[in-house]
Amino acid sequence: MTQSAFPDDDATPPSGGRAATFRVDAATFPAPSPGAGLHVVATPIGRLADVTLRALETLAGADLIACEDTRVTRVLLDRYAIRVPLVSYNDHNAAERRPRLLAALDEGKAVALVSDAGTPLVSDPGYKLVAEAIAAGHRVIPVPGPSAMLAALVASGLPSDTFLFAGFLPTKLEARRHRLEDLARVPATLVFYESPHRLADMLADAVAVFGASRAGAVARELTKTFEETVRGSLGELAAIFAERAVKGEIVVVIGPPAEEKASEADVDAMLRAALARQAPGKAVAEVARLTGADRKALYARAMALKAEADGKDG
Ligand code: SAM
Repeated sequence: MTQSAFPDDDATPPSGGRAATFRVDAATFPAPSPGAGLHVVATPIGRLADVTLRALETLAGADLIACEDTRVTRVLLDRYAIRVPLVSYNDHNAAERRPRLLAALDEGKAVALVSDAGTPLVSDPGYKLVAEAIAAGHRVIPVPGPSAMLAALVASGLPSDTFLFAGFLPTKLEARRHRLEDLARVPATLVFYESPHRLADMLADAVAVFGASRAGAVARELTKTFEETVRGSLGELAAIFAERAVKGEIVVVIGPPAEEKASEADVDAMLRAALARQAPGKAVAEVARLTGADRKALYARAMALKAEADGKDG
């Protein structure tokens, strides 16, 4: 029996001299070696049929496949009758595994890199391996395919000409707000990955930082049975998901800031809303960030509005 180079991994023997193949339903296809180098292969984000023919050919023809979790990748490989040794490469063991994968590349092997779902390196391991493979003079070949961020972006109905993929936000409240504040005036659609149990908090923070009227979309379980994309203003989305607990995998897309200057009436409305929630200094900072208006002028206006409101209350 052929020994796996990494005995603690999935030791599926390679095809033992026979030409590698993969199968789609009843049809068997040959899989010649994709050639020496690191092949960065995108895999489905839910529906296994979303894998590309080239991804199957590359995986089946590779000498070994580096993957996050061998059990997850095995499901995909079994579906297409691919028999190639698997090596786990994930956040916990990457530093220890990298030299061994680079050694395989030095030997002229075809190494495929996949993640549990979607495109490796996109909020997934692989960046350092790719960088070190390039530094060592190896070929790095992308095999493009699914990624949740693009699937969500194209279904969001939000501008797609300029977008910024922001990955996962920090989990701590303060750091999350700061990150959102950094992104508030970026003239691009923003794409975030988010976990279902943090979605309501994230949307509430987004309303506080970007304003309730900014457009957004929440894409959930893309390509899977319970796929849905909910579109609306951030205020609407925050209200919906404050009431509704959701499960599954989620992408939040937020449209770019409005280009036109806010009218005086809009600025007054934003100042009033911000003043109702916080001290004048903070309220002015928030509206300045949202509108790009001059802080001094905003402060003077905030004081006038406050005096007006205090007069009415008294
Ligand atoms: N590399 C993957 C990609 O290219 O999309 C992303 C991996 S990241 C660890 C996992 C996150 O991607 C999930 O928490 C979720 O935010 C998003 N995601 C992955 N699959 C998804 C799906 N089917 N629907 C919605 N979001 C998904």
